[in-house]
Amino acid sequence: MNAIPKPSLEQFDVVVVGGGPAGATAAHELARKGRSVLLLDRAGRIKPCGGAIPPRLIRDFGIPDELLVARITSARMVSPSDAKVDIPIENGFVGMVDREHFDPWLRARAVACGAVQRAGRFTAIDRDADGTAIVRYDATGDDDGEGEPQAVRARAVIGADGASSQVARQAVPGADRGKFVFAYHEIVRSPAPEAGADFDPRRCDVIYRGALSPDFYSWVFPHGPNTSVGTGTANKGFKMRHSVAALREKCGLTGETVRREGAPIPLKPLPRWDNGRDVVLAGDAAGVVAPASGEGIYYAMIGGQFAAEAADTLLATGDVRALRLARKRFMKLHGRVFWVLGIMQRFWYTSEKRRESFVSICRDEDVQKLTFESYMNKELVRKKPMAHVRIFFKDLAHLLGFARA
Ligand SMILES: Cc1cc2nc3c(=O)[nH]c(=O)nc-3n(C[C@H](O)[C@H](O)[C@H](O)COP(=O)(O)OP(=O)(O)OC[C@H]3O[C@@H](n4cnc5c(N)ncnc54)[C@H](O)[C@@H]3O)c2cc1C
Repeated sequence: MNAIPKPSLEQFDVVVVGGGPAGATAAHELARKGRSVLLLDRAGRIKPCGGAIPPRLIRDFGIPDELLVARITSARMVSPSDAKVDIPIENGFVGMVDREHFDPWLRARAVACGAVQRAGRFTAIDRDADGTAIVRYDATGDDDGEGEPQAVRARAVIGADGASSQVARQAVPGADRGKFVFAYHEIVRSPAPEAGADFDPRRCDVIYRGALSPDFYSWVFPHGPNTSVGTGTANKGFKMRHSVAALREKCGLTGETVRREGAPIPLKPLPRWDNGRDVVLAGDAAGVVAPASGEGIYYAMIGGQFAAEAADTLLATGDVRALRLARKRFMKLHGRVFWVLGIMQRFWYTSEKRRESFVSICRDEDVQKLTFESYMNKELVRKKPMAHVRIFFKDLAHLLGFARA
């Protein structure tokens, strides 16, 4: 009697694990290229995030107006001694999105292009007899892991499952050694204009004060009807809830609390983003968040795009070296900015005196223009070499203590 053949597993060109900005962008790119894509996302949790996005992201990734819950036109830097520097955002605005709506919209766009979306919690990558990846997941997406076990075959896998990426830990050497800042925020109801709070719905506050964050910063980011009030630190013993309570009290943001939530933010791009075979990482899973600012959405989406292009080239050519291109292209474009921001964070965020000087430097118009143009358009400004020279000497004066805060 002939043996009954085992039903073969469903196969996709690419399984994308994680449906945040990195994964949803990767799935969208691949589906647009005609690849069969499974977008697997653990359902049911809103990503904790301040939701600030630069115009470059809105432009390059076609984000529609209706997803912007606020348009921010100035940033206020606040020093330890409560000195305040208002930086107007000229010729534009910083957009604010609610991740509750932003992420599902990105996933829906990928699905509209042909990606298959499923709610599921990734558990493991195994290998078929022929070496092809078998991606295992629990179908319900429950965090307790009690969902129905499922498996699919994948010619390539993109790990976009965030800062605590299981795909990275299982498949990419060195991924377990990442360093993190922990960020915590409370979503609160925005105060009415007449409530007397120190609050402007079109202004982001960035507060540098050791009591609120010993090594990062705290923030107030308005989102229309709601506002994100948060803080970050790498110091595990620091009481973040107390810090946010104190900040809310100080700003008069004492109304209803909508949500309390936190998550790790990676501090440094991982040294490797691929397994040299068929797995490549993107976004927080690859450690890609800008130091000093904690900005990660734009970099996650660019990373998702590069990972998709790398996977597509692998599928087209069979050349596993294509996977390395994702990291190479990213670091070529943004490595220098990350390096500079890393130095800034390590230097300026370490003592009250330095935080005071840092906010003071932000009064300088050249610093304001270059910082914002770099943030808004994601390019180091090359047009004004003399401004760079002036800033260099001003920074040097502050570093050596010749300039007063
Ligand atoms: C409090 C806070 C405030 C922030 N504020 C800002 C800001 O204002 N602006 C900014 O640009 N960046 C900000 N960031 C950083 C930004 O949120 C991240 O860099 C960005 O979300 C990274 O996108 P991602 O797609 O790589 O990962 P994520 O957004 O974390 O998405 C990962 C996805 O993977 C899914 N997933 C995880 N594990 C599994 C699994 N086992 N199986 C299946 N799916 C899984 C998750 O459900 C999630 O949908 C902030 C971060 C924090 C924590």
